[in-house]
Amino acid sequence: MKNCIFCQIVSGKIPAERILEDSLCIAILDINPLRPGHTLLLPKEHLETMLDLPEKTVAHLTKQAQIVARGLLKAGETEGYNLFANNHKCSGQAIPHFHFHLVPRRTGDGIKFQWNTGVYGDDEMSAWGMRIREALEK
Ligand code: 5GP
Ligand code: ZN
Repeated sequence: MKNCIFCQIVSGKIPAERILEDSLCIAILDINPLRPGHTLLLPKEHLETMLDLPEKTVAHLTKQAQIVARGLLKAGETEGYNLFANNHKCSGQAIPHFHFHLVPRRTGDGIKFQWNTGVYGDDEMSAWGMRIREALEK
């Protein structure tokens, strides 16, 4: 897609630090890393969210995420990592071309994801469980 930064990176119009590439996907370093090594893994095809990905691409990206994660751990200064994907603008997705974030982590690195956790009211958890199970059956 013409105006998509990631499509332009895939086509080579915009430079990026590529760490892995095959026929379906590329992994690049994030230009504004949460920590050095912060990697973005994306399909070459312009697909906006996880639900737009063909099954084959989901499976492939997940497999490649494992390979990137192994690389981050081996590259050093890394004890663990976060793997996540923002889907849709409301979740924080700034670039509407699906991508996994892989953020290398180490103890005391100061990165804090803000989880504004709550608690369920009486019967609310089971009601949500039911609601989602029913939605899965539709
Ligand atoms: P999102 O908010 O969509 O989940 O994440 C988009 C990510 O893309 C951000 O972390 C941002 O720093 C990164 N990003 C934005 N523009 C560029 C770019 O031109 N090159 C690279 N390598 N990363 C970018
Ligand atoms: Zn794109």
